[in-house]
Parts: sequence; structure tokens; C-alpha cells
Amino acid sequence: MNMNRRTFVIHSLAGSAALTLASLARAADAPPVAETDPQAVALGYKDDATKADKVKFPKYAAGQHCATCQLYQGPATGRGNCALFPAKSVAAAGWCSAYVKKA
Ligand code: SF4
Repeated sequence: MNMNRRTFVIHSLAGSAALTLASLARAADAPPVAETDPQAVALGYKDDATKADKVKFPKYAAGQHCATCQLYQGPATGRGNCALFPAKSVAAAGWCSAYVKKA
């Protein structure tokens, strides 16, 4: 690897790390989505996955929660970002009917 390529790779990695940290900081700063928010109601979002309405959303399976969902970005506990609730944070322990298991 020549010097320019090495410098580019190092800068790219540093940039990615900074972006990841920035997005985690945003998740912590974003206000929590309210369970009464119209979109949250429509999707059956609950801060506590075990409180999901299993009658209305029979696809819920025990053990599913935001932190293991493909649309979640954030720490395994606490709060993070979800693409479905921009500018809001969701609970890592939460759940909604759009849940898709992380690959
Ligand atoms: S889409 Fe996934 S991360 Fe977003 S609220 Fe629903 S279960 Fe949580």
C-alpha cells in the first residue's frame, strides 16, 4: 500500500468512527418517541417489547426487540435511532410491528 492510499484508508476509518459516534450522540439527544404518537400507535410501538399487543400484532415473538431489529442504530441498551421515527429515539428494549431481525 503506498503512502497516499494508506493515508486515505486511515482518514476513511477515522471518518467512519466519527460518523458512528455522531449518530450515537444524536440517538441519545433525540427525544423519545411517545407511544401515543400516531405513527407509533399505527405500528403498535411499545417502549417495552413484552407489552406489545399480541392480539393486534400476532407476528410478535418473544425475544424480539428494537436492538435486534434491522432498522435500529444505537447501543444494545438505552435508546437508539430507528429509520421509521426520524428525529426521535426508540428504546433498545422496544418493539413495533415493522420489526425485521438483523441479518
Ligand atoms: S422498526 Fe425496528 S427499531 Fe424501529 S421501532 Fe420497530 S422494532 Fe424498533
